[in-house]
Amino acid sequence: MSHSSQSMVESPSMEKDLTLADSPAYRRNIENFDNAAKVLNLDSNIARRLRQPERILIVSVPVRMDDGTVNVYTGYRVQHNDSLGPYKGGIRFHEEVDLGEVSALAMSMTWTCAVMGLPLGGGKGAVKVDPFRLSRRELQNLTRRYTAEILPIIGPNTDVPAPDMGTNEQTMAWIVDTFSQRLGHFAPAIVTGKPVEVGGSVLRSEATGRGVVYTIEEAANEIGLNLKGATYVLHGFGNVGTFAAQEMTKRGAKLIAVADVSGGYVNKSGFDVHQLFEHVRRNRTLEGIAAERVPALDVLTVPCDVLIPAATGHVIDSNNAPKIKCKIMAEGANGPTMPEADVILERNGVFTIPDIVCNAGGVTVSYFEWVQGGMHFFWNEEEIDTRLQAIIRKGYRGARAFAKDHNVPTRIAALCVGISRVDKAMRLRGLYA
Ligand code: GLU
Repeated sequence: MSHSSQSMVESPSMEKDLTLADSPAYRRNIENFDNAAKVLNLDSNIARRLRQPERILIVSVPVRMDDGTVNVYTGYRVQHNDSLGPYKGGIRFHEEVDLGEVSALAMSMTWTCAVMGLPLGGGKGAVKVDPFRLSRRELQNLTRRYTAEILPIIGPNTDVPAPDMGTNEQTMAWIVDTFSQRLGHFAPAIVTGKPVEVGGSVLRSEATGRGVVYTIEEAANEIGLNLKGATYVLHGFGNVGTFAAQEMTKRGAKLIAVADVSGGYVNKSGFDVHQLFEHVRRNRTLEGIAAERVPALDVLTVPCDVLIPAATGHVIDSNNAPKIKCKIMAEGANGPTMPEADVILERNGVFTIPDIVCNAGGVTVSYFEWVQGGMHFFWNEEEIDTRLQAIIRKGYRGARAFAKDHNVPTRIAALCVGISRVDKAMRLRGLYA
């Protein structure tokens, strides 16, 4: 219920001062947020606060390159909201990242954690760099210096980063070491997504891809689709895409198109997924696999039962949305769909599993890693998988129940569930003045 009236004078906001609103990713999130806020009749004072991050840190990161020169990269850490618990979210190394996108991603983490019922808030970090152009040593230098620069605002009880696009277990191990050197003792709780050998959790690497497929299973049940023999398409063959493929294969589904940085590949009779894994392990990308070559974005419009965008954001817009022919669209990626495309997909009967539910498996097992690290007692694969499924399926069903009760798209429903939990916590905690 709304308790306040819109104030007459709009205060200056980060959105305007930092031109966050110029970014398509930020615009997409705000549009979806405003739609959900309307459904919830969210208090405008709460809405005003939630539309922007609580804290933004921009750092410059000097890195000694192998040829002796010093390059300077821009790094970010954005903390959106910590009403439910410490800020949580990955660190992305990507050439095209900007402040608007990192802020949007931080906001999405708030809703992801809230809709899953995790006692965590939302944050995100990034460095504007193409990690594939750096040597291992340069990458380590970059990671350590970026860590040192953001250390004033991160910590095991304040803000806990994790891997994201362009970063992995190794990156997390370097962050642990940098933090531990500072403290003078082993301090792994600074990040999750660490290798098991330095305090990580089993199944953390697999978690996002597995979670994606658990939600696909739920959706398939709802619409009466049998995954055995179903066709699917993957846009992205990184951490999320490969583990999603592994799970889809277990269920007898057939991969008919796939894309990665090297381009798109179509094979209507179905790829041998294990061969693809082997190929990528040896050659780093899909380049050279036997298939029809197409531009990477074209795989999105290959007719199939399940489409899994599992790469970058805003790849589905009003241009290609009318050409998308799938029954289920499962958002392994963060923010692959622009709001104008949502309307088209909905009209065409595509069943969308929104990112904040679909890809929540990663942060869920990150939460388990954080809990296990805290008690220095680690669970086995079976325990992790059972707990992951319980949380993901409950989060999915909660969002779907809201969608049906209020007759709104699942994306808006999931946001509503997440936002209302944050709203309640904010009201209970009150405003520190
Ligand atoms: N980077 C992943 C995400 O954004 C995982 C975050 C985490 O594990 O904290 O969903």
